[in-house]
Amino acid sequence: MHSKSRRTDATTLRKTTPTMCQHQPPCPTAESADREAAHAVAHHPEQGWSLLCNGVLLFEDTGELLPDGQIIAPHKPLGARHVITAA
Ligand SMILES: [Zn+2]
Repeated sequence: MHSKSRRTDATTLRKTTPTMCQHQPPCPTAESADREAAHAVAHHPEQGWSLLCNGVLLFEDTGELLPDGQIIAPHKPLGARHVITAA
């Protein structure tokens, strides 16, 4: 009794960033420097964070958690934007 060697189909796993963005024009991606401009799809002010449609978790202290696990430290005060120009 001979068994034929079976070939299993190689499944190509593509690493795609899960995006919930259905906006037109599409929002900036999580990789974009403009990522905070994306729309919030979930807002939890009592917990101090909102989830943007590009998968970024935006905290109220402007800290961010990117979909790939990267953490962005808080970088600017809310409300008051100070433009500091270095000479
Ligand atoms: Zn969007």
